Amino acid sequence: MTSAKTPREAWQAMVDGNKRFVSGNLAHPRQDIDRREALALKQTPFAALFGCADSRLSAEIIFDVGLGDFFVVRNAGQVIGETILGSLEYAVEVLGVPVILVLGHDECGAIRATIDDVDGKLQAEGAYIHKLVEQIRPTVLAANAEGKHDIDDVTELHIQDTINEMLTNSKVISAAVKAGKLAVVGANYKLTLGEVHPIVTIGDVA
Ligand SMILES: [Zn+2]
Repeated sequence: MTSAKTPREAWQAMVDGNKRFVSGNLAHPRQDIDRREALALKQTPFAALFGCADSRLSAEIIFDVGLGDFFVVRNAGQVIGETILGSLEYAVEVLGVPVILVLGHDECGAIRATIDDVDGKLQAEGAYIHKLVEQIRPTVLAANAEGKHDIDDVTELHIQDTINEMLTNSKVISAAVKAGKLAVVGANYKLTLGEVHPIVTIGDVA
């Protein structure tokens, strides 16, 4: 069930899996010894997920999928960088995934830290925390310029900006979208409900 999916089939499988997670009626598919052994020589994941590193955003759990199903790339606040783009290009060009999901979530610590930083209130010493925050800062400033200060509004804008940055910078990814081989979905994960709410869809996933 995991190979040769269309973007639409792959996204539907993700939607179905998240519904099972939300309802608590989990299938825990493809997590056994047979699956592990079958995958040892070759992986054919049916989606790539680029999401926040937040411990509550466990990719395979919230979509009720198994070993070899997702190619997962995560960092705090899902911030684009060269190694992120390289990983996603690998997922698209080499592994042929039909969907990239960019997944943010409510009450994101990285977004909150950036809002605090813009307000001059960020309490963190790490030089690389500040570098990460600097990359989200333009989104917070753009949201503020539109009169949006709520963290949910900033998070939605950040997901859109992240997708734009990915498509602008990666020719391989944007070409796959143009060719109809790849869909990109941007979504917000609701921590309490466990629901994945799409914000942006590009390509054939309807
Ligand atoms: Zn987060």
